[in-house]
Amino acid sequence: MKRYIFVTGGVLSSLGKGIAAASLGVLLQARGYKVRIRKLDPYLNCDPGTMSPYQHGEVFVTEDGAETDLDLGHYERFLHQNCSSFDTTTAGKIYSNVIDKERKGDYLGATVQVIPHITDEIKEYIANDDFDVDFMICEIGGTIGDIESLPFIEAIRQFAYAVGRENTLFMHLTLLPYLTTSGEIKTKPTQHSVKELLSHGIQPDILLCRASKLITEDERKKISLFCNLPQKNVISAIDVSSIYKVPSNLHEQGLDTVVCNHFNLKSKKNPDLTPWASFTKKLTSPEGEVNIAIIGKYTSLQDAYKSLNEALIHAGVTNNVRVNSRWINSEEITAAKAESIFSNIDAILVPGGFGSRGIDGKIEAVRYARERKIPYFGICLGMQIGVIEYARNKCGISDATSSEFNSNGIPVVGLMTEWHHADGVETRDTHSDLGGSMRLGSHESVLKKDSKIHNIYKTMTIEERHRHRYEVNLNYVKILEDKGLMFSGFSPDGNLPETVEIADHPWFVGVQFHPEFKSRPFAPHPLFVSFIEAAMKQSRLV
Ligand code: GLN
Repeated sequence: MKRYIFVTGGVLSSLGKGIAAASLGVLLQARGYKVRIRKLDPYLNCDPGTMSPYQHGEVFVTEDGAETDLDLGHYERFLHQNCSSFDTTTAGKIYSNVIDKERKGDYLGATVQVIPHITDEIKEYIANDDFDVDFMICEIGGTIGDIESLPFIEAIRQFAYAVGRENTLFMHLTLLPYLTTSGEIKTKPTQHSVKELLSHGIQPDILLCRASKLITEDERKKISLFCNLPQKNVISAIDVSSIYKVPSNLHEQGLDTVVCNHFNLKSKKNPDLTPWASFTKKLTSPEGEVNIAIIGKYTSLQDAYKSLNEALIHAGVTNNVRVNSRWINSEEITAAKAESIFSNIDAILVPGGFGSRGIDGKIEAVRYARERKIPYFGICLGMQIGVIEYARNKCGISDATSSEFNSNGIPVVGLMTEWHHADGVETRDTHSDLGGSMRLGSHESVLKKDSKIHNIYKTMTIEERHRHRYEVNLNYVKILEDKGLMFSGFSPDGNLPETVEIADHPWFVGVQFHPEFKSRPFAPHPLFVSFIEAAMKQSRLV
């Protein structure tokens, strides 16, 4: 019998609903249950693929090529299992399915309405899964009170009614602001938020209260009274220094016990959270530190590079060092300033990116890393920039560029017009839609024996997740190789360069894929682990 847990958010956004949902998943897993988490986002985009990372944070990519909300990254990292395109939907997708059905005449003359047609489509999405799990956790994006979330809230109310309240649980995340002037925690916003939920027919079973301090028994009693739920179901979610502390904290506050009691379930095994405790212990007591310069465009919004940040943290913990990420706006980097910008830097990383802004600064960063023999890691756009820099400064192709930035230069990196995947061939041209049309998801690469990357992965074929439209142009591979840039990995058909490296450099690796999506706290990604090791050598820590 599957149980459904719906996670909603109140008061304001960015309270950490995704982390809360993922942490609950961890606790249920630790009790021996099979769990899956899904995200239902109420915005009208079909997926976040075309949204600016400034607005929405990173676009996370699943194995099967869905462009999703960054919360799916948390789910994967916390539960140590892959999500899929079935684990995410948006209002845009739901409405577009309904409109498709309407055009086909599926509604047989009915007036198509939000209730029941949109709500039915949402319920069908929730119910429709082949995963044999004990718990399906569904996180509803946005905040209670948003106009777009209404059909989702109505749908989960109806869904709970249909499958029985004994098989569903509503967990609501709120904020308890602390007023320093009066020295007290205020419960009013929570009361209002719960009232709003109640007005839609949903009585929360658990209130997860984000606060800077543990809430007192008196405060819990008050919230319990006003919000109509048992005091023990009012749980403190205290601010913590690392997201990896959240599962243990919520366990201490009794979250998983309350959930199991709600469903009348006994634990299948005693939850053992010691791996989480040792991970956070290593994280908070490192034996050294390294400074990594990350050259990007969205440096003011860390969420734009969520998985990258986490992958660096995992690799730091593995190597017992704190990774200090120094975010550098590429538009500030010039040849004259490079020396001062990169003083005290142990390694340089250029992550994925789109568009032509700030490209010159990134090229300068690569040149600096290459010439000064500072470890360099180029991810996706970072690999393309690495190749362009090499073509310009080592092969004498001074106007080498990517057709993404400039249609007049020499297109050492050009638009991919055709590629193979498991189901056949994909073709694109300059007029193709932008949404969902990149080379996406997991693809195989074949590595060159004894290359650096082969030694890092210790296997000849790898599978990594991709999200790109442009690709190194095969016509230039020989010229670049003759001057010392090694193409150490290709797609199995040999048509798409996947990895580059420089043999005569301590650590210079570019990859066309995004390894950060596969790094997990208890399975750090080998490329990141090796990169941090190289940074440690650079800073003479080893
Ligand atoms: N903009 C580049 C491309 O589309 C790189 C993409 C990326 O870094 N994810 O190929």
